Amino acid sequence: MTDLRLAIQRFDPSRDPKPRMVEYTVPRRQGMTVLEALLFARDYMDHSIGVRFSCRQASCGSCGMKINGRPRLACYTQVDELGGDSVVAQPMDNYAIIKDLVTDLGSFFQKHAQVTPRLVRSDAREQDNPTKEYLIKPDELSKVLQFTYCIKCGLCTSACPTVATDSKFPGPQALAQAYRYTADVRDQGGAERIESLDSEHGIWRCHFAGSCSYVCPKGVDPALGVQLLKRHVMSGKPPHLAEEASKEYRAPQTQT
Ligand code: SF4
Repeated sequence: MTDLRLAIQRFDPSRDPKPRMVEYTVPRRQGMTVLEALLFARDYMDHSIGVRFSCRQASCGSCGMKINGRPRLACYTQVDELGGDSVVAQPMDNYAIIKDLVTDLGSFFQKHAQVTPRLVRSDAREQDNPTKEYLIKPDELSKVLQFTYCIKCGLCTSACPTVATDSKFPGPQALAQAYRYTADVRDQGGAERIESLDSEHGIWRCHFAGSCSYVCPKGVDPALGVQLLKRHVMSGKPPHLAEEASKEYRAPQTQT
């Protein structure tokens, strides 16, 4: 097998004037992931390469980065699937760089927290000390299930063109999670959750580019979540009833 040419964007904001690309030649093997290639370069060629990782199995979301121009998880991307003998690794867009491939996800988690990503009951006492178990039926669960698979890797937000131009926009992950909890029949916190999102920098800034869903490594469709949230706000009804309302809606006929 030919060696792999691995180009890594290097940048330490505390001392470098600007980012630069540095190339490493890494021995390649079948099934090698981009993360393994990066760790080889770090362990045997340059200990100062900044790369973040943890689980190595697409569960923790720590190793998100831009690989050959597209946001991906390095542990979940095999070199073979990229084709060719070279790989380019860069930090994710839309986040500040801490060092090299490590980005600051502070604002991402802050926006996630702002949508109250948990089930809320209107009775505060019941919320803190529930007197019974709150159940959800399988068909009700199926409406939100895919959104529960989010591992908060931040890839979708790095791919979002709206986040790139509006730092106050919550981003696809936070909005999809807002839908996930609002659409859960056990939740009673939807009105409060939606209030700040139905605003100038909120859901209406999404123009459905769909890049968030394209890059998600867990099969979540955040773009769909955002559109369902819009439908919920427009109909003024809980998501499960909004679905019925949208079936009744007939688009006006265009005059020709
Ligand atoms: S929706 Fe997908 S891409 Fe976005 S943070 Fe969750 S797992 Fe990552």
